[in-house]
Amino acid sequence: MQPATTLKRGACALVALAATFAVACSGGDAVRVSGDVDLLPPMPTLPAAVELKKVVPVEPPTPPWAPKSPEWSYVLGVDHGIRTDDGGKGAFLAPRAHGKHNGIDFLAPVGTPLLSACNGKAKSDKRGGYGTVVQIVCKLPDALGGGDGLYASLFYAHLHKTNVPTAWTAVKAGAKIGTVGKTGNASGPKIKPHLHLEVIIRESEEAAREERHSGLDADAKDAADRFFELIEDECLKPAKFQTQAPNIRRERRADPFILLMCAAKPKPDLTTPEANELRAAQAKWSAHYSAKGFDVDRGPR
Ligand SMILES: [Zn+2]
Repeated sequence: MQPATTLKRGACALVALAATFAVACSGGDAVRVSGDVDLLPPMPTLPAAVELKKVVPVEPPTPPWAPKSPEWSYVLGVDHGIRTDDGGKGAFLAPRAHGKHNGIDFLAPVGTPLLSACNGKAKSDKRGGYGTVVQIVCKLPDALGGGDGLYASLFYAHLHKTNVPTAWTAVKAGAKIGTVGKTGNASGPKIKPHLHLEVIIRESEEAAREERHSGLDADAKDAADRFFELIEDECLKPAKFQTQAPNIRRERRADPFILLMCAAKPKPDLTTPEANELRAAQAKWSAHYSAKGFDVDRGPR
């Protein structure tokens, strides 16, 4: 009995379905389905000329974690993600022969313009394994500790050329400070060209200027504690922005990518390098970071 009933029900459903199709496809002034409900009312006659209302685009609301009027800039004119090649991996705290990687290696062809991340003071130098370097010292954005007088020292290494003098000189966010190179210990053929960028948080402008970007310094602990507390509340938590790696901090050092994403104007979209040998060395941001609030390969906003 059971199969017969099922068949009967199925047959009824099919008939009903066919009827609906027949009505729906029949067109006409008003489409009737169940006998008394009009799905589409008859079309009214349009006047000869219809005046179209101007559509005013609505600005999307600013997400709560987005930097307020960001004064900081991304550090490169192009974005090819993190270097990862036969010479090693360029993520923050990646294992190295001497310990842990203290910055991030931003993959980019030799000659790519490098931009100052912030309004502050810069000087250039030559530093052995780091090659040609530029150090920039800036007050942090107010929400990330600038309001408490905290400063950041940004250390750009392996430059090809720089126009920054060897004495402290004022620099504006977004200004060109040099080009990507392969100087210092990045000169080997296995290591693809990149910007090595480090960020150190300090309690004052003077302390930031005295930073040599080497070794450990327990005195800087309080300033870094404050910075990490603020960036967690202001940006990381609200944007659900995090690294796959366990840490964004090493003592007074911060992961440069998290600071840039939380403080700077939008970065260029991640693109694939044109040169074959660079393409193979690209690791996307999304291989190391994730966020609910934005696409980490495209950047916030
Ligand atoms: Zn590096």
